[in-house]
Amino acid sequence: RAKSKCRGSLQFFAEEMNEQLLIRKQLKGDLRRAIPEGQLELEFQPQVDLTTGKVIGVECLLRWSHPTKGRVPPDQFIHLAEESGLIIPIGDWVICQACAQANDWPELKFAVNVCPIQFRQGNIVETVRNALEAEGVSPNRLEIEITEGILLQNTEETIAILTELKAMGVRIAMDDFGTGYSSLNYLRRFDFDKIKIDQSFIAGLGRSTESDCIIQAVIDLGASLGMTSNAEGVETLAQARKLKQQGCKEVQGYFFGRPMPSTSIQELLVDHDWMMLAADDTPSRST
Ligand code: C2E
Ligand code: MG
Ligand code: MG
Ligand code: MG
Repeated sequence: RAKSKCRGSLQFFAEEMNEQLLIRKQLKGDLRRAIPEGQLELEFQPQVDLTTGKVIGVECLLRWSHPTKGRVPPDQFIHLAEESGLIIPIGDWVICQACAQANDWPELKFAVNVCPIQFRQGNIVETVRNALEAEGVSPNRLEIEITEGILLQNTEETIAILTELKAMGVRIAMDDFGTGYSSLNYLRRFDFDKIKIDQSFIAGLGRSTESDCIIQAVIDLGASLGMTSNAEGVETLAQARKLKQQGCKEVQGYFFGRPMPSTSIQELLVDHDWMMLAADDTPSRST
């Protein structure tokens, strides 16, 4: 009896697996039509300078509106696009779209996420150069965000590409800093312009001494290497104030704005600044 029960759950498990595989396969197929059928779009999340309280840039985040499933979050389709190679045209589309949008906000920097495969198989330098030229956008307004996964393979080649982009004037940021296993080593290998402290650390800010100390150490490390620090996932005023005290340069997160369509960014630029951060340096508990 025990045996048959086991077999039963194994079969159930196998069916589940099959279903997952089917869904993935179907999504992968659907993704092929996403660009031609205009199902992709970018949203923009404001980045705020803690010294001035002003929005100084946006991170461009990819959105997929699936015809029947609705919004599919990037965490669910980026890896599928990587597996199928579609990430190259999709990644190129993101860069072109971001550069086109940048024309509407001449005062803002804009950041795009680029995945490892686009570095290895794509022609990222050409794509970036062409997109900037086509839109007449200055290279120093574009920031490319990479995770350390990008340096795990073909390290020399990747560093050469990063160096070329940097020579063009494009800025390079290390995303999700602290989550991988050799983040520190990569800081030694390449002169990043910015370190983005992963949001998992910010979530612990003010709750554990360990989180506070780690964040402080990363900010100080960045400063001594001449890199700007950005804290991701800032959800409260208290976190923003604490980060400002700690000397963090820049923040982004739901407190300042969720990723939003381009039209809302326009309103945000006109209506808001966060001078209360600049005005008040004293520790203060707020909600
Ligand atoms: P990421 O680059 O680290 O982006 C930050 C993620 O955190 C975004 O999720 C953003 O919506 C979310 N976030 C921002 N502020 C807060 C906050 O205060 N609290 C919380 N809980 N979350 C916050 P999203 O848009 O779902 O993107 C997830 C990941 O997908 C990104 O992580 C990035 O790695 C990847 N991704 C997004 N767009 C692209 C793209 O165009 N190309 C590539 N290759 N990857 C992308
Ligand atoms: Mg990012
Ligand atoms: Mg991140
Ligand atoms: Mg991430």
